[in-house]
Amino acid sequence: MQSHRLSRLGEFVTSATEASYQADRLPEALRQAKWLFLGAGIVNVLFYLNDFHFLGAPHFASAIVARTVIVGVSFLALLLLRRSSPSVAGLRRLCLGWSVPVALAGGVLVSPHTGPALLVIFALPPLFHLALPVSVGGALVIGWSASAVLLASYLSGAPLDETSLGQGLGMLTLNVILALVLITTSRLRRMEWAATRAAQAANRELSQHREILRCLLRAVPTPLVIATGDTLRVIEVNDAARAYFGEEIQRDRLLIETYLDAPAFRRLADRLDQPGNVASFETTLHFADGSTREVLLAATATEFNGSPLALLALVDISERIEMEARLKHLASTDPLTGLANRALFFATADVEIKRMRRLSHPLAVVMVDIDFFKRINDTHGHDAGDAALSAFAKLCHGSLRGHDLAARLGGEEFALLLPETTPEEALALAERLRREVSELTIPGTEVRMTISAGVSAVTPGEDSVEDALARADRALYGAKNGGRNRVMADFSTGTEPSPVAPL
Ligand code: GH3
Ligand code: MG
Ligand code: MG
Repeated sequence: MQSHRLSRLGEFVTSATEASYQADRLPEALRQAKWLFLGAGIVNVLFYLNDFHFLGAPHFASAIVARTVIVGVSFLALLLLRRSSPSVAGLRRLCLGWSVPVALAGGVLVSPHTGPALLVIFALPPLFHLALPVSVGGALVIGWSASAVLLASYLSGAPLDETSLGQGLGMLTLNVILALVLITTSRLRRMEWAATRAAQAANRELSQHREILRCLLRAVPTPLVIATGDTLRVIEVNDAARAYFGEEIQRDRLLIETYLDAPAFRRLADRLDQPGNVASFETTLHFADGSTREVLLAATATEFNGSPLALLALVDISERIEMEARLKHLASTDPLTGLANRALFFATADVEIKRMRRLSHPLAVVMVDIDFFKRINDTHGHDAGDAALSAFAKLCHGSLRGHDLAARLGGEEFALLLPETTPEEALALAERLRREVSELTIPGTEVRMTISAGVSAVTPGEDSVEDALARADRALYGAKNGGRNRVMADFSTGTEPSPVAPL
């Protein structure tokens, strides 16, 4: 970053900054010099007409020579300017080379001490101060020197009188004023140049940042959508969004609402009502072809040029959700039979007990154990045993109502959770199951099997299924002892042994 500090003369203190300012100004400086040389040449050619009025006067010859010097130097300078297109330093040398003979010849021209000469000595200093494209210091030196030469030459043309001091002071005042004008103009020009350069640099930086941002948006593999802040209409999308949504996302002023259900859209719009607000939630996107995708939607409300905007980023989590569901299923399901496992049984029982207590509904449990299962394995093989377990699970599936739950607690031991089922209904269900199992044939095997079952119910004071299961297990034990292939019940309260009722 260049320093833009200015000196007392109104030039940049740092020479590199001054050099770039001068280089920037060179075309204009060349134009200015061209008009100066051309103007001086033409005006002085015209002055020849005036000079010939003084034909025969003592100063005529020297005046014609001086005039010719000015005309010659001016046209020569113009010629050199056109031929060489000088640099900043070259132009300054040319201006200096023009000023010295012109000032001296001017001095000769004003030496007759005439009225027009008085006018000329005050008319020329502004030309040297302000019209020469040289450094400020250079213009001051040339301007003051030329003024001194002109005044001295003018005063030397006649003895000093009472007006001479006034003319001297007048010239001094003119030079001070011209110096001030020169310095002020120089300061203002440089300040304007510095401000323009700063604005250009800022614009350049801004467009660079915009380009970087655009590249970034394009390169980000996450679908990004820029939408209007109020109605959430699509304004701009990145490549990833185009690939994700398809070309329809580019349809003019498409509404984000198209992809969301009403509650999700309301939720998004409500959270983005203020710039700086961020909304981040999981939701479902609905596509035109009827398909859906689960996404994590992260949206930020922002502002650009005074207009509210929303920047939306999407992370597709469909596969994660699917995987979670699969893992959840695996973690809660017995892989062989597809029935609930022990963990899911107890978790569901907790929920059902709470519901039962809240609504005062009955909740029954049944423990089931396949009779002589070891013998099935031994006789028909382990695979046939597995097939028997699966067949029993399938039977449960078909026999139970939607909100009943059958779980494999381990080996050939099962538990049924029967919400809103009275003890009588539970006994009837267990008996039906027992009968159906006894009638069951398993395709591809000779296996026949029976089950024993123990039925119980969760009593109103209980907040876990454990005690009810213990009673059902005791009833099951009774059924086993009673000869198997039977159902027994224990509807007592607590865990104390009580007579087990056969069906
Ligand atoms: P009871 O009538 O007293 O219940 O006799 P049981 O033979 O059914 O009982 P026991 O506990 O002696 O034997 C259970 C058998 O179940 C032992 C075990 O090998 C078998 N078993 C446990 N899990 C599986 C399984 O996943 N597949 C197969 N095929 N057999 C299993
Ligand atoms: Mg058994
Ligand atoms: Mg067993």
